[in-house]
Amino acid sequence: MQKLRDLPIEGVAERLGLQVRMHKSLCPFHDDSHPSLSFSVRRNTFRCFVCGASGGTIDLVMRFLNKSFLDACRWLADEHNIILDVWQPKCTKGSPLCTFDASRYERFFERPWLNDEARRFLFDERRLDPRVVRWCRLTSWKDKQGVPWLQTPYYDREGRLVGIQNRNLVKGAQPRFRFPQGSQCGIYNLPVLNLLRPGDELYIAEGCSDCWSLLSAGHKAIAIPSATLLKKKDIEQLKHLGDSPRSLSINFEMFPDNDLPGERLFLQLKELLPNLHRHPLPPGCKDFSDYYLQTERPP
Ligand SMILES: [Zn+2]
Repeated sequence: MQKLRDLPIEGVAERLGLQVRMHKSLCPFHDDSHPSLSFSVRRNTFRCFVCGASGGTIDLVMRFLNKSFLDACRWLADEHNIILDVWQPKCTKGSPLCTFDASRYERFFERPWLNDEARRFLFDERRLDPRVVRWCRLTSWKDKQGVPWLQTPYYDREGRLVGIQNRNLVKGAQPRFRFPQGSQCGIYNLPVLNLLRPGDELYIAEGCSDCWSLLSAGHKAIAIPSATLLKKKDIEQLKHLGDSPRSLSINFEMFPDNDLPGERLFLQLKELLPNLHRHPLPPGCKDFSDYYLQTERPP
């Protein structure tokens, strides 16, 4: 818990999508036009001088994402490594420490191997199509402590490995995600774009597990890393996708998550892709994976 409270507050704010300049940002809790939210690096807190909103890292996440205390802690735990990685400029751009060393990892994905925990997670819990698991080259490994991890490779459109997400397969364990140094886990499943034909539907998911479910349901899909945190590079890429002549006849589709961040992401994407079409989830389904599990009939 203290670790979450000690995360740099400005890093948390930026991860939530706020733009921090000189320890200030626009206040997301009232209609703000001049930055009135200020951050105290010493106390690791925020305070708005207009609406009075204030608190630490957990309060910021609770209020901004409209989450309970526990859910906010979970969110921070998941984002922990990314916040530290992205926010703290550990090295200057282009230095060997900073860049992702794909050659170190590529071989893991040449012959993917799934341990029992990974099989249980992918096939029993998520009921994914084995062809999708192969297409995505999901693999698994165990660390020195015997903790099983699912390894998800991120490729760019040309099929170059650009990042890896490690997901802890032990239920409730923290941290839930880990990323090797320099991993660029932006938009997921970019190689699918090469398979698009005019008139095709392209689904946009939130997070790779929803993307796997969409693929297993027979859709073409990419995923955005997580709500509220589209990076500039991802935005450019999406805009480009919407603008290129080839894409004129691509229909962009989305099942927004049944919560506030999901709605926010949809509206954000709709600005970039005006023809993005909303598919509402039935009540009681929090995301597409949920819906998929309720509708899919395994053979
Ligand atoms: Zn305010």
